[in-house]
Amino acid sequence: MLVDSFGRVATDLRVSLTDKCNLRCAYCMPPEGLDWLPKPELLTADEICRLVAIGVERLGITEIRYTGGEPLLRREIVDIVARTAALRPRPQISITSNGIGLARLAEPLAQAGLDRVNISLDTLDREAFIRLAHRDRLADVLSGLAAAEAAGLRPVKVNAVLMRDVNDHEAVRLLRFCLEQGYELRFIEQMPLDAQHGWRRENMVTADEILAILGAEFSLTPDDPGERGSAPAEVFLVDGGPARVGVIGSVTRPFCGACDRVRLTADGQIRNCLFATEESDLRGALRSGASDDELAERWVAAVRGKRAGHGIDDPSFLQPARPMSAIGG
Ligand code: SAM
Ligand code: SF4
Repeated sequence: MLVDSFGRVATDLRVSLTDKCNLRCAYCMPPEGLDWLPKPELLTADEICRLVAIGVERLGITEIRYTGGEPLLRREIVDIVARTAALRPRPQISITSNGIGLARLAEPLAQAGLDRVNISLDTLDREAFIRLAHRDRLADVLSGLAAAEAAGLRPVKVNAVLMRDVNDHEAVRLLRFCLEQGYELRFIEQMPLDAQHGWRRENMVTADEILAILGAEFSLTPDDPGERGSAPAEVFLVDGGPARVGVIGSVTRPFCGACDRVRLTADGQIRNCLFATEESDLRGALRSGASDDELAERWVAAVRGKRAGHGIDDPSFLQPARPMSAIGG
């Protein structure tokens, strides 16, 4: 098992399939994009599947989430999902995506064994989308969402990050839209993980603010407050339910004490935390002929050293060198 020195057990593996993206969300990367990882440094589909199999078969991983960058840009995605679904015990398989390309891929992914999707949608206004993501792709995101629903990838979850004076006035509109469509919306506090290092705590729209904005329009009652467990979202019934909305207070309401996540970057590094400043290289070992046992041992050691929390509030906090898009959000 992947246990750290505080007794937390990692069972949820987030795998970044690529650091590339077809959007440029302002809280994530600069408009000009980033220097993408050179192709030889990326894990191949076979290497990804081997490491995922080690995680599931030997190390107690029960959930796999493919992310990025934009995971749908990875051509082998349907094959990777199918190979993941063939593992025993079969893990839960999900994808976090910006939705572009899902109109074409939702059905084949569902057939391959994908269980769920989280799709990012920060605005319903085309002009605001272009300002925020620097691409005119709102219509593609919306058709991707509809395709996920039609393919049975339910409940379709929507992730929204609010930025002050950019889209914070859209919280209520986003929730109304998701209620109408039957999607489950979750707001995520903006974290200091952008490549530009532009995050400022005083500009962040906090979980408290989001709840106040929503609370003025809807009645929100905590849904199973005792059941949060390792789930980062605090979930509320909207107007008595059954519809729900989640708020992920990653910064102001950290859930590090119950964290069950571990990450594998697209270039084969294990990160025991989004905010880790160190990584453990599995790619080098894998390419120099390490056995499955040796790779599993390295992985166990990488998780053992996980810190107690992200420490964003510590004066000594250092933003990790890799941005979110290269870690795998
Ligand atoms: N491209 C895919 C997408 O946008 O869903 C997957 C990768 S993206 C890095 C994963 C999630 O991280 C998205 O929901 C995105 O909104 C969120 N995200 C990116 N940068 C963030 C930041 N600085 N703070 C909070 N969430 C962020
Ligand atoms: Fe791309 Fe996702 Fe980052 Fe937006 S949040 S730029 S869609 S990786």
